[in-house]
Amino acid sequence: MDYHHILLAVDPEDDNTALIARGRELARRFKADLSLAHVVEYFPVDPASETLVPTPVSVEQELVDEARKQLRGIARALDITNRHIHVRVGTVRREIAQLATEQQVDLIVVGRHQRHGLGLMLGSTGTAVLRAAPCDVLAVHLG
Ligand code: AMP
Repeated sequence: MDYHHILLAVDPEDDNTALIARGRELARRFKADLSLAHVVEYFPVDPASETLVPTPVSVEQELVDEARKQLRGIARALDITNRHIHVRVGTVRREIAQLATEQQVDLIVVGRHQRHGLGLMLGSTGTAVLRAAPCDVLAVHLG
């Protein structure tokens, strides 16, 4: 079975060396398109009422711009054009699944951290993506 469009879900805070290497190798092997996605999760909570407050548009835009800048750095290493860089605002699970459907992605690649103790019980973003994904998901060990 071939993959035609591979989406790397990226958290720029991670060491993404292994994720990028695997994405590049898979795209080459399958002659697939390669896209990059990051989701800005920004949900400011009012400490008094513990309810969500509307996000100031300027703050949100700043976070999106910053994420896009970081993704461009990764994209350069992968020869990915701007058209294949996606920055969304929302929850990772939902936005990545939606993007995969919209862009006809057939493989999502996520990173996976070694987890211990409480981390195991809380689960991971990768697991959440896997549950919502409309296609195959590959979890790459980030170490
Ligand atoms: P985590 O479970 O949060 O340690 O994240 C594991 C992997 O989930 C990362 O290596 C990324 O592939 C993906 N991921 C986490 N946060 C984001 C995000 N904000 N946007 C896109 N992908 C993410």
